[in-house]
Amino acid sequence: MATRTTDVGAHGRFDAFELAAAGTDLAGEIDARNLPRAADQLAEGADAAPIAWRISGGHDDAGRPSLTVRLDGVVPLVCQRCLQPFGATVAQQTHLLLARNEAELARLDAEDTEVVLANTTLDPRHLVEDELLLSLPLSPRHDEEACAAARRSMTDDGKRSPFAGLAALKARNPD
Ligand SMILES: [Zn+2]
Repeated sequence: MATRTTDVGAHGRFDAFELAAAGTDLAGEIDARNLPRAADQLAEGADAAPIAWRISGGHDDAGRPSLTVRLDGVVPLVCQRCLQPFGATVAQQTHLLLARNEAELARLDAEDTEVVLANTTLDPRHLVEDELLLSLPLSPRHDEEACAAARRSMTDDGKRSPFAGLAALKARNPD
């Protein structure tokens, strides 16, 4: 099925039910530093945090109108282990059912599905920011092998370093 992609401006609101009925996409790119709630979570610095986003209209298996929100990018976070900034990959895809009113929102919510109230037009920035916040780790950390704190603890702890024993031996028997 061919989908039409519409680029919207940073503030282009859209009708989610129309998007779902038409089965079309909205797409764009946003700097996460310009999303106030997300910016609070990022490492300080001037480097941009570009997030490519796509919002696709469609229907779930039961034929109910839905949106799929896809985010891809890299954002600077502070590693909670070594306190150094690192680039964390964002690759988030969320399926949201659309609710026409509060009653429908409550009913769909009880089904344990992700729901968005779409009784007015939606702001793509808002959806993107919500999904980005959900995708960010509560306690961001480097991968083990990339983390300076993890490397330090590997070498400080003699039992964990295969070379510690050798170094101790050399210290006793200098060449
Ligand atoms: Zn680290």
